[in-house]
Amino acid sequence: MSTHELFAEPNLIQITVWARGVVMNKDARDIVVALTEAAAKEGKYVQAWENYVDLPDRIYVPVRAYARISSDPIESKYVYENENPDIVVVVEETLVKGVPILKGIKPGSTLVVNTRRSIDTILEFLGDTGNLAKIVTVDANSMAEAVMTLSGAEGATDATGIGAGIAAPIAGAVVKATGIVDIENLSSVVKNPTAMRRGYEEAQIRELPAHEVVEEVAVTARELLKQMPFAGTVPSPQVENEGMVTGNWRIQRPVLNQEACTQCWTCWISCPDSCITMTDDGPTFNLKYCKGCGLCTAVCPSGAISRVPELDFKN
Ligand code: SF4
Ligand code: SF4
Repeated sequence: MSTHELFAEPNLIQITVWARGVVMNKDARDIVVALTEAAAKEGKYVQAWENYVDLPDRIYVPVRAYARISSDPIESKYVYENENPDIVVVVEETLVKGVPILKGIKPGSTLVVNTRRSIDTILEFLGDTGNLAKIVTVDANSMAEAVMTLSGAEGATDATGIGAGIAAPIAGAVVKATGIVDIENLSSVVKNPTAMRRGYEEAQIRELPAHEVVEEVAVTARELLKQMPFAGTVPSPQVENEGMVTGNWRIQRPVLNQEACTQCWTCWISCPDSCITMTDDGPTFNLKYCKGCGLCTAVCPSGAISRVPELDFKN
C-alpha cells in the first residue's frame, strides 16, 4: 500500500479557490469561509485557510484559498495546500490562461469560473481538461458589487461581512453544480443571499466526457520557490528570471498603435519589469513577464498603448 493510500480520507472534499492578489483575497476567503460555515451547520468537519506562499501582497499575483469538508473527522490537519482538489473555483477569468488551475484534480472534479464568456471560450483556454467532469460559468460581476478590502486579512475580524460581494453568487454556483452543502444553509451565512441565489439559478453547467488524466507539465509557484537558494537571492534582473515569471498576473495586455507612437522611449524607461524593448518599429512587450500593470499606457504622451482584456487573445 502506498503512503498516499495509507493516508487517504475517502469522504474528504477538497476545494481550491484561485483569485488575484490583494484586490480579490477577500473574495477567495469569503468563498471558502461561506462554504465551510454552511457545512459546519450540517454537522460536517471543516477546514478553511489561505496560502501565503502565493505572495498575496502583490497586485494581481495568482493566489489560492482552500476549504476541506468531510463527514468524518479530518485527519490531515497541517497541510499547506490541497494536493488533489475535487472542486476548483476561479474568481477572475484570466486565471484560466497559463495558470495550472487543474493541477492534481481528482477524477470527476468540477471547475467553476466567474466569467461572462461562454463555456466554449473557457474550454479553449484550458486545453486538455484531464479529469475534469463538469465545467460551470457564472457571471458574478453582474450579480454583486466586488468588495475590495483588507478587512479580515491574516486572521482579523472581517467588518464587511462574509459574502457581501461577488463571493456570494460564485458560492451559489458551486452549490448548484456540486450540492456540497444545502443552499438554505449557504443562504443563512452569506451577507448577500439575493446575489447568492442568482448565482445558484443562473450558473451555466456542462458535463464533460471523462478521459484519462494527461501528463501534468505545469509547474506551480511553490515548486519554483523550492528551487530558489535559501534567503531568496535571485539573479540580476538584467536577465529573465525563470523563477519569477509574472506574465500570468496580467488581466489586460498592452497593445501598441504603431502609427501614434513617436518613439520617445517614455514607456521603455517606465516599465517596472523591464519588459519593453525598443525596436525600429517602436516598443515590443515581453509577454512572459509583462504583468499588465498599465504603467506604460499611463505614461505614454501619445496615447499609443491601449489595454485589451487578456482573454481576447488566444496566444
Ligand atoms: S503593462 Fe506595460 S509597464 Fe506594465 S509590465 Fe507590462 S509592459 Fe511593463
Ligand atoms: S511612450 Fe508611447 S510614444 Fe513613447 S515610445 Fe512608448 S508607445 Fe511610443
